[in-house]
This record gives sequence, C-alpha cells and structure tokens, in this order.
Amino acid sequence: MFRERGVEIKTAAQIEKMRAAGLVVGETLDLLARTVRPGATTRDLDRVAEDNIRSSGATPSFKGYHGFPGSICVSVNDEVVHGIPGDRVIADGDVVSIDCGAIVDGWHGDAALTVAVGQVPPEAKELIAVTEQALWRGLAAATLGGRVTDISHAVESYIRSQGSYGILEDYVGHGIGSAMHQPPNVPNHGRPGKGPKLVEGLALAVEPMVVAGSPESRMLADDWTVVTADGSLAAHFEHTFTLTADGAWVLTALDGGEARLTELGVPFGGS
Ligand code: MG
Ligand code: MG
Repeated sequence: MFRERGVEIKTAAQIEKMRAAGLVVGETLDLLARTVRPGATTRDLDRVAEDNIRSSGATPSFKGYHGFPGSICVSVNDEVVHGIPGDRVIADGDVVSIDCGAIVDGWHGDAALTVAVGQVPPEAKELIAVTEQALWRGLAAATLGGRVTDISHAVESYIRSQGSYGILEDYVGHGIGSAMHQPPNVPNHGRPGKGPKLVEGLALAVEPMVVAGSPESRMLADDWTVVTADGSLAAHFEHTFTLTADGAWVLTALDGGEARLTELGVPFGGS
C-alpha cells in the first residue's frame, strides 16, 4: 500500500521480513568488523560478506544493482561511500566504511558502519564516534506523528555541536522496503517538521556521511566511488528502522536498537 508521494507502508508481517533481512545485514557487518585487518583486501571482505549473506538464505542487495560488481561497498579513508571491493590492501591506520544490503523474500535491509583499523589518530576515532552517534540521535528523534526532517535536523544538530565537520548533502538516507531505495529522501541536514509524516509501517534508512574537512565530494573514474574533494577522512553509519506504537525498532541492529535507544532516553518499539 502506498501513501503520500509514493511512500510504501508495510504490514506487520512485511516488517517481520524486513527484520529478517536486517538481521542478516547486522550479522554480516558484525562479522566484517571482526574480519577487517591489515593485509586483507577489500575483495576478501566482499567474499566473507557474500558467503555470509547467501548462507543465511538471503541475497546481497548491492550485487548487480545498476551494475555494481560487489556484494558490499568498501570505502577507505577519503572514500566516503560506494567503494568497489577489489585488490586494495587494507593497512594499519585505515578508516574503513562498509555498507551492506540483503534481501529476504523480496524485503530489504540496509546498514553501514565505519571501522578504525589498528592505530588511527584520535581525530579519526572522533570522526567515527561523532558519525555513529549522529545516526543514533537521528533515530531517537523519530516519533509517530513527527516528520522525516525531524531526523535530518537531529543528525545535523549533533554533528554541528561536535566541531567543524562537513556533512555530505548530495547523498541522503531513503525509504526502504520492497526495494532498497524508495521515497522519501532522508537528508542529513535541515530544519525539522518537513517531509512525509512518520507513521507505523514506514521504514527508513538513515545514513549520515560525515567528513573531517570540506563537504565537497567528487566521483572517481570508476563511476561509483565517492571521495572527498580535499582528501579528508570520511565516516558513514547507517541503519534501517521503523516505528511501532511502542517506539523505534532498528531492524538492522542485532538488539533492535534497544540499548542505544534506551541510553538516549527514548522508547524501544521492537519485539
Ligand atoms: Mg547502505
Ligand atoms: Mg542506504
């Protein structure tokens, strides 16, 4: 069922399928975060991800998406998003962002995280922590009856409160369900109270992309990899979530988001 400018409203049974897909994504990212190490190639991570997704009975969302060759995106250091897995060898001190999507019975989950490999400078750790917390602030700002940009505003406000970071504006979060990318857009900046209403059965992927320098980005010649124009470090975190009558339910978090949401003082809506 579609309402308000093509926003897909899911039944409870469909949300359960999305939770199944979300768990595959969450488990795969958890595995990758433990696998990533100096000496591994980004293709090694892709193999681990694809094996884990398929052995869980799911399909990688990214493989073949507009011709994308990998099952995950791996973006290192100044690469912000959409890095193609390949021969690149991960080194000590790298900042590695991994984006993963999986499909179960036609329903999607989409999430991303950024990992510091070995010894990274404190600024890099800070950037990663700010980006992750911005995601959770965004999720915590979503309430039934609110609007999509309540999330955007919370994400931006938190990042601005932490220092002079850049927020990518050309890439945004999105609706998700029977397709990976659906309306509405979920920007990572802006005033609250705009966009479609947050209702039960809506599912959104929230994904701040934060950089240590200027928010200007450019695309590499491979037509996929987005890098910072000034070469500064980037971090990316993402979760797929929905709202129930009880509160927020983070479908790609292993615990449904219960711990982080509780920490932020907002009700957990999962089961
Ligand atoms: Mg993603
Ligand atoms: Mg996404």
